[in-house]
Amino acid sequence: MTIASRLLVIGAGPAGLEAAAAAADLGTPVVLVEAKDEIGGTPLAYYATLTPHLQETHEAMQGMVARVRQHPHIDLRLGTRVVDREGEAGHFQVTLEDKAGKRTVEEVGAVIVATGFQHFDPGRETQLYGYYEYDDVITLVDAEAMFKTGRIVRPSNGQPPERIAFIQCVGSRDRQIGNQWCSKVCCGIASKQAIEFKRLLPQAKVFIFYIDMRMYGFWEDLLYWKAQEEYKVNYIRGIVTEVIRKGDRLLIKGEDTTMGRPMEVPMDLVVLSVGMEPSAGTREMARIFGLPKESHGFLATVGEPLDTVSTPVPGVYVAGAAAGPKDIEDSVSMGGMAAAKAVGFLNRLKVAETV
Ligand SMILES: Cc1cc2nc3c(=O)[nH]c(=O)nc-3n(C[C@H](O)[C@H](O)[C@H](O)COP(=O)(O)OP(=O)(O)OC[C@H]3O[C@@H](n4cnc5c(N)ncnc54)[C@H](O)[C@@H]3O)c2cc1C
Ligand code: SF4
Repeated sequence: MTIASRLLVIGAGPAGLEAAAAAADLGTPVVLVEAKDEIGGTPLAYYATLTPHLQETHEAMQGMVARVRQHPHIDLRLGTRVVDREGEAGHFQVTLEDKAGKRTVEEVGAVIVATGFQHFDPGRETQLYGYYEYDDVITLVDAEAMFKTGRIVRPSNGQPPERIAFIQCVGSRDRQIGNQWCSKVCCGIASKQAIEFKRLLPQAKVFIFYIDMRMYGFWEDLLYWKAQEEYKVNYIRGIVTEVIRKGDRLLIKGEDTTMGRPMEVPMDLVVLSVGMEPSAGTREMARIFGLPKESHGFLATVGEPLDTVSTPVPGVYVAGAAAGPKDIEDSVSMGGMAAAKAVGFLNRLKVAETV
């Protein structure tokens, strides 16, 4: 049987877009499947601006999006999912289903899974922050929606908040719920948003309650020190146990771990720094392609730290947040690496076929 020359990329977020464009630039025809009607993944769907330069997301990603849309070697299928798979490396037969329920079977030689992550749901189990009880408790994602409008108000009364608090590590680093990982980006995102709040509401007091701040490379001075020194954001080392309503305001209860004493602080708006979990699509691809998960439920790779993209299944690679918490920089780097590995793999199969 002749080796199928096409590569299937699943998911058109930063990782999948880079993987598809890089493989196509190397001359490999790509089928790029995206469940939504738009490409750009989670950042383009939800975030107003990106770390660390606070660049508007559409502006930052427009080149990447245009490169994929215009590429002659990329066959883009929007509103489409992979629902079944037969065969193996060199001859995968994948069944695609569009929103109208129409199914097609495509033959591809290799696969890159880039189905990303989902935001932690702060209403779950042990979370006592009142996300579904109080309008003025929001998530980082809800805050991004506000930044898109440029209008910062308390949802409960439409008034600008005077006191804003971030609670870090919501749904991450939490053994009780089984999420024993750091989501990597949320300390940086909270610092970025704190700067944006102060730019839009210079009179507001902004607090970040953290277990410990985990800044990533250059985010240390571009976001953390900038937030403290230029924008006077208050970082408070503490554990928040509960958010309750007190009169017209919210009361944050917990322990200030620097001072070693209980704390109760009134706030107008509370932002929960929700972390990253494997997306439903990622879990579904694990099932369809028989991909093992690592101990946290993301897709396992075989060669970390030297090979972050090869899965134990020959011909199947993973890129981006499907393999664990990643920022966009990590995701795009993995997309390029997965493309190089997948194209190399297909070339080796073709050479083996001719000898
Ligand atoms: C609140 C928050 C803010 C963030 N802000 C930043 C930031 O400012 N800067 C930064 O560097 N990082 C940021 N991140 C991290 C960033 O979102 C991720 O690094 C990035 O989105 C990962 O890219 P990805 O392509 O792996 O996954 P995603 O962006 O999640 O894209 C996955 C794509 O796959 C598609 N998909 C899923 N399942 C299927 C399926 N079954 N079939 C077909 N398609 C499917 C999805 O629809 C989606 O388009 C933030 C994260 C959070 C939680
Ligand atoms: S990046 Fe910060 S907020 Fe996010 S899980 Fe890690 S320590 Fe917690």
